[in-house]
Amino acid sequence: MGAIFCALSALSLLGNAIEAVAANGGETRITGARVAGDAVRTRFILDLDGQVDVVMSGLANPYRLILDLPEVGFDLPDGAGREGRGLVQAWRYGLFAAGKSRIVIDVSEPVAIDKTFVLPAVDDQPARMVIDLVKSTSEDFEDFVRTSRETLRQRQRARKGDRLRTDELKGDRPVIVLDPGHGGIDTGAEGVGGTLEKAVVLDFSSILKRKLEETGRYSVHLTREGDNFIPLAERVEIGHRLDADLFVSIHADSVRRGRKVVRGATVYTLSERASDALAEELAETENMSDIIAGVELHDEPAEVTDILLDLARRETRNFSVYFARTLVSELKSAVRLINNPHRSAGFRVLKAHDVPSVLVELGYLSNEHDEKLLISDEWRERMAVAMVEAIDNFFRPRIARDASQTGQ
Ligand code: ZN
Repeated sequence: MGAIFCALSALSLLGNAIEAVAANGGETRITGARVAGDAVRTRFILDLDGQVDVVMSGLANPYRLILDLPEVGFDLPDGAGREGRGLVQAWRYGLFAAGKSRIVIDVSEPVAIDKTFVLPAVDDQPARMVIDLVKSTSEDFEDFVRTSRETLRQRQRARKGDRLRTDELKGDRPVIVLDPGHGGIDTGAEGVGGTLEKAVVLDFSSILKRKLEETGRYSVHLTREGDNFIPLAERVEIGHRLDADLFVSIHADSVRRGRKVVRGATVYTLSERASDALAEELAETENMSDIIAGVELHDEPAEVTDILLDLARRETRNFSVYFARTLVSELKSAVRLINNPHRSAGFRVLKAHDVPSVLVELGYLSNEHDEKLLISDEWRERMAVAMVEAIDNFFRPRIARDASQTGQ
């Protein structure tokens, strides 16, 4: 690209995520930012000293514009963004994740991006990126939110592929973290025949780990390899630290409600509101783990309340749900499932904002038939094979793309 100026003019850009690119090489810093105009037309201006690729998207409740950038430096004065003007109430900026920066603009009402363009550096003037906002309707803004986030998802999928390719060059593979529930002081459920959940889930996780490793396609980690207790937040942290591409928590709980009849494998994802009473009860039980072990609860990662991570969290949830569906369809033909085998509730162990996560109840130890299956080698084998198949299906597009790229 030449010395500068490649901008996507954005008249009537509702309906697309908007990308604007400025280029003059070198490491990019945002050296200034201003808001001008009034409540009819508000202009947001960033001064840049290098190349930056910005993707804009929207979020409602409250109304926000999100600018995603590669990691940039922010040379802005203290208090920048605290005061708004016109349609802009305030804005924030900072590192969003490794290699990613983000600017979040709070707008007072639904807006449309009327124009966005990049002005090249001239004489002593820095390059500037200009975003012009005008009033819009909530319907149009919702449209923008929907379509811009879809574009963002596609880009993130592509980036995930990039990361995989880079990792592959280093000899790495998709990272899977298997999380055998409970352990140590927290025994989990106990079957009528005396089977302990913490033991049965560790056995199964070890089998699954071995089978995944045998494919040669994955790097597989267990959150615990012995009979030790791990706080929920630490389990989440292990997935995050290993930059996991998938986190699978393995359980075999007991239920109070309908203990005799409730049985069959179940796949749970995270949701604020539980899908049903059983899911709600299980999440409550699971979330008790730290209390059972006497771990203080104030260690909840601060990011849980960070609004900047909202978007990433939603994206991750979409991947989690996609994996849960893939898993259910694979398990269907292999083992007995509960009615409505994909359920959801507020499981704390599934709260990583950046790692697709599911919790699998292999079965329920409160049911004697399930207990027998859980300790049967034949059943464990069948279950593990089906889970490997589902994981293969989940990663297949990325692995295929990766193979074709390395083959070139
Ligand atoms: Zn459990």
